[in-house]
Amino acid sequence: SAILALEGVLKQFSGTTTPAVDRVTLTLNQGDLLSFLGPSGCGKTTLLRLIAGFEEPVEGVIEIAGRKVAGLGHWVPPERRGVGMVFQDYALFPHLTVAQNIAFGLTKTIKKLPKAAKKRVEEVLYLVGLQGLNLRYPHQLSGGQQQRVALARALAPHPKLVLLDEPLSNLDAQVRLRLRQELREILKAAGTSAVFVTHDQEEALSISDEVAVMCGGRLEQLGTPEEIYQKPASRFVAEFVTHANFIPAQRRKEVWETEVGSFKLDRANWKGLDNGRMPDRADLMIRQEDLILRPDEGGNATVRDRQFLGREHRYCLETPSGRELIARTTAEETLSVGTQVQISVAEQGLQLFPQL
Ligand code: ADP
Ligand code: MG
Repeated sequence: SAILALEGVLKQFSGTTTPAVDRVTLTLNQGDLLSFLGPSGCGKTTLLRLIAGFEEPVEGVIEIAGRKVAGLGHWVPPERRGVGMVFQDYALFPHLTVAQNIAFGLTKTIKKLPKAAKKRVEEVLYLVGLQGLNLRYPHQLSGGQQQRVALARALAPHPKLVLLDEPLSNLDAQVRLRLRQELREILKAAGTSAVFVTHDQEEALSISDEVAVMCGGRLEQLGTPEEIYQKPASRFVAEFVTHANFIPAQRRKEVWETEVGSFKLDRANWKGLDNGRMPDRADLMIRQEDLILRPDEGGNATVRDRQFLGREHRYCLETPSGRELIARTTAEETLSVGTQVQISVAEQGLQLFPQL
């Protein structure tokens, strides 16, 4: 069943000309982890704050666990929505110990039972891997540990839903990677549903059951990480999520001709065709990992730049028309800058989009 349901949720701030959140409709299943993914300013935080109850929608309905909390004359204040929050900057009380910070979030009922409260604090500390640090103060902890305390505090009262706004953004790269994986494990172990805000597509794809890609306040696509990656619903999603290449293509019957080859493609490979006839021109999406490079004196591209990324190389290529293409390849052979290469294309992932 749905733990969260948004129906046509709209928020426009006074003094602005466009909505910050523009009629967003989606549902989240019990126990699932959903990411809001999009560039800065696309409305992720505003949508999270609407769910939490820190903002009121102008239009639309919000339901949490089957109960209307906003819209159609309903209003449930934040503290009564059964929602836990985790922020980018941890927001711990500096003068309280770890245990006191966590106990702060517990309900009045359990706070009256010191034994039960202490037990719950121990449980969530164990859950986030910080057992034994009860008496530390926030300044005595690393950034990653502080964010675990914030997570423990959010989880302590058994919320129905945890909302996390860019929780990993303030951590350095190594800690961020480790906590990313642990965050998913902790939330799953707690059995809590969660909404996770990020502008980092790799983070969203790796951590989530469902990804909501946002642009300009609108929901561009909702799907599993695999669906978002393999079947982007719009050019924006393809560009933002996969950093795919786009190359002009011209149709001759069923064959689309480009600078890097000709491909037989049909309607199944087309996005945004309004049931009309196939146009003669389109932009062909080719993913970075679908370009195959072979050194060739008479090849159709030149290596202009090369980055070593550990498991793979990222090559910046220039075509004869001066177009830039990015390729990622795990090939063992390293192509040095200036090498002429013949590009071929793995065809299974190709998609056509209307030209801009
Ligand atoms: P994100 O979290 O995706 O970066 P936000 O939800 O913070 O985006 O912002 C979405 C849009 O709403 C932005 O254009 C931002 O400037 C605007 N906005 C956010 N909060 C307010 C506010 N309190 N008053 C006016 N405009 C706001
Ligand atoms: Mg934000």
